[in-house]
Amino acid sequence: MSRVVVLGSGIAGHTAASFVRRWLPRADTVTVVSPVDRYNWVPSNIWVGVGLMQPH
Ligand SMILES: Cc1cc2nc3c(=O)[nH]c(=O)nc-3n(C[C@H](O)[C@H](O)[C@H](O)COP(=O)(O)OP(=O)(O)OC[C@H]3O[C@@H](n4cnc5c(N)ncnc54)[C@H](O)[C@@H]3O)c2cc1C
Repeated sequence: MSRVVVLGSGIAGHTAASFVRRWLPRADTVTVVSPVDRYNWVPSNIWVGVGLMQPH
């Protein structure tokens, strides 16, 4: 059994974890480590900044 740890839950980390989860057998684990407790879709930050989207 393998244990995969992905550091960072940005676009790259999210994509890597999604693909690895699909490729590995169910018995293997995939853990994403993030320094924050929320997911931030970076390209949308600009819309929050100009008041066209709420942070949540
Ligand atoms: C305003 C704005 C608009 C954009 N618009 C577009 C667009 O329209 N189209 C496009 O293709 N690209 C766009 N981009 C660029 C795109 O958002 C970035 O290229 C992309 O977010 C990079 O992804 P990443 O996973 O490499 O980094 P990030 O998304 O920055 O993810 C890195 C992650 O690592 C985490 N992290 C940091 N330190 C640690 C640590 N020590 N341990 C664990 N985790 C850690 C961070 O919290 C973060 O979640 C935009 C960027 C900005 C700022």
